[in-house]
Amino acid sequence: LSAHEQQRLVRLASERAVHKAFHWLHLHEQKVQGWQAELSAIPAPPFAEQDRALWMAAKFRELGLRDVQLDGVGNVLGWRRGAVQQQLPQRPYLLLSAHLDTVFPVGTDCSVSVNGEGVLHGPGICDNAAGLAGLLALAAAMQFAELDTAGPLMVCANVGEEGMGDLRGFRHLFGAGEHAASIRGVLALEGAGTAVVIDRALGSRRLRVEVTGPGGHSWADAALPNPIFALSQLLTVVANFPLPAQPRTTLHCGLVRGGSSVNAIPESASADLDLRCTDAATLEEIETRLLAAIRAEVLDERLTLTIGLLGSRPAAVLDSKAPLRLALAAVDRHLGMATEARIGSTDANLPLSLGVPAVAIGAGGRGGGIHTLAEWYDPHGRELALRRVLLLTLAAAEQIAEGAELIAEDEAPLTSEGAGILD
Ligand SMILES: [Zn+2]
Repeated sequence: LSAHEQQRLVRLASERAVHKAFHWLHLHEQKVQGWQAELSAIPAPPFAEQDRALWMAAKFRELGLRDVQLDGVGNVLGWRRGAVQQQLPQRPYLLLSAHLDTVFPVGTDCSVSVNGEGVLHGPGICDNAAGLAGLLALAAAMQFAELDTAGPLMVCANVGEEGMGDLRGFRHLFGAGEHAASIRGVLALEGAGTAVVIDRALGSRRLRVEVTGPGGHSWADAALPNPIFALSQLLTVVANFPLPAQPRTTLHCGLVRGGSSVNAIPESASADLDLRCTDAATLEEIETRLLAAIRAEVLDERLTLTIGLLGSRPAAVLDSKAPLRLALAAVDRHLGMATEARIGSTDANLPLSLGVPAVAIGAGGRGGGIHTLAEWYDPHGRELALRRVLLLTLAAAEQIAEGAELIAEDEAPLTSEGAGILD
């Protein structure tokens, strides 16, 4: 199969239209950088991505994507039809995506500056303005070269990847989304990096531990229990909770709230916890034990303990023999680069957990200061990474189209009785 993928790659890479698309990428770095700076300056805080989404939708239309629309949760969708003209959306397709949202709250100054060495600075300039700019560059190169994938390609700028967004953009695409059942592969452009690929999804559970009580005056009601003290007791359990070294597991508390005044017994106190593990079963087991340990602590009976789930990302792995993984290996061999496989917590978690082949992949260049106001992006060498993503897009779409033909031959047509009445 690997030799087969290698042959596929040699054939794809020799196509005239592919060369033409590469040529577009070679000549238009300045244009792509301009898009990146412009979109990065449009704030896209969690749950408020719409301004940036509308800007992306306009660009999608300008770059010849079809049926451009915002879906029910605000994902921007557009299509490049496959080389074989077919009815959408019944045909299986490849999803090429980049997330719209940043971690920066409403009111953050997102303006972008460029220094003398051509390095861009601004919150979100790498994560994920680099991915979004890559998406636009690929759409533009394919439009210019009149290059089409073997089957349909959906291009998507999605909401809700970061933190509390909890993958809501992808959850919709793979859940209530109109085309959910036909997605057969996912390439998610994520930040910088040329040879980088995330093919293992780090699982995480985010929990809020909250203690509430009657509250009162610090002097007059001094006999009443204090939720902050009780929460501190619970956090000691969390801090000392034993974790396995293998599979790697981390437990973290990143946010504590509680109280209203120095001379008032608080009515509530809460802590947000972040538990991560590379293995889905271990993650579940540790969470169960952690919650039991927290609940086992004896608190004053006038206090109430509640534990809520803030977010959940499934752990999963792309099989090393999966056709998508083999296609990537063939691309990287063709381009003479050594694949840097990593583990991460990205949009790819969701499809991987559903058994849909997916990777998160670098959109080129270098970046740093991710999730800080000092974030930067150096676009040097972006062209090579985008060539890589383009070749992988073509190969993966072809695999999907071939798979669809196999399925179509096997399937008996549904009779009218078989279809039934669904309402
Ligand atoms: Zn990101």
